[in-house]
Amino acid sequence: MNVKEALDYGRKRLTTAGVESPSLDAEVILANVLGVRRIDLFIHPERRLCAEEIRTYRALVEKRSSRVPVAYITGSKEFFTLDFHVREGVLIPRPETEFLVEEILRRISWVTKPKVVELCCGSGAVAVSVAFFKKDAVVYASDISETAGDVTLLNAVKHGVEDRVLFLKGDLWEPFEAEGLGDFDVVAANPPYIPSGEIENLPEDVKYEPRVALDGGPDGLKFYRRIIAGAPRFLKPGGSIVLEFGKDQAGQIADLLKRAGFGGIKILKDYAGLERVIAASLHAG
Ligand code: GLN
Repeated sequence: MNVKEALDYGRKRLTTAGVESPSLDAEVILANVLGVRRIDLFIHPERRLCAEEIRTYRALVEKRSSRVPVAYITGSKEFFTLDFHVREGVLIPRPETEFLVEEILRRISWVTKPKVVELCCGSGAVAVSVAFFKKDAVVYASDISETAGDVTLLNAVKHGVEDRVLFLKGDLWEPFEAEGLGDFDVVAANPPYIPSGEIENLPEDVKYEPRVALDGGPDGLKFYRRIIAGAPRFLKPGGSIVLEFGKDQAGQIADLLKRAGFGGIKILKDYAGLERVIAASLHAG
């Protein structure tokens, strides 16, 4: 079997299984098995696979056929131009979350040695991207999941920012409270925001991702209430909050922010034109 034949086989198998992007997924899986870039598959379609490569490739195509996300199969996902390590147990970084990173970076671009918090950090993609693109920022990343801590640390090391991305394990503000931390320039989060009753309607692939990273309680806003209520205590006067959110949640989150003393509310749309990120600042004085 050569590369071209392997791709044909993978595409057909994944098409039969009803996978949404069969050609792309077959390419990504094969490139990963062979340890080459996707483009190399088209430069050398005649390259022959050895028996071991064929076995591994077939096994991974079967895994994908049963809807395990490609990122869990390859163990990596690109986000904000960087390559992140991912594994089952952490949410796979989404392209729309890049708007969260952009807004955080905008708010700290003129600050010297800004201190940023990211709650519910998961793979650490947001925290590491911020530290990577703002070279004097210190980012306190926290999550209740142990796996999130392991993966965040791996990603921080991978991108050379492990001295400026500090992981704290715990429930939202609790570890910050316990450590007496505060005086932050920006508080950011992409907390779980899917209403509990809607989890079962999510695409089949998403069911392989941790429920704890998706389930936002009965109305999806459980974590926003606690994050927003606590934020003023941990922010500098004039500091910012930047949050990602889901479908039809902007109005209620804006109300929570206003009630907690935030102003200058700004809402950003994602690549699909949907409201996705909200930012506000704490009135100084
Ligand atoms: N955007 C994710 C999804 O739709 C949800 C992420 C989250 O709950 N923060 O699957």
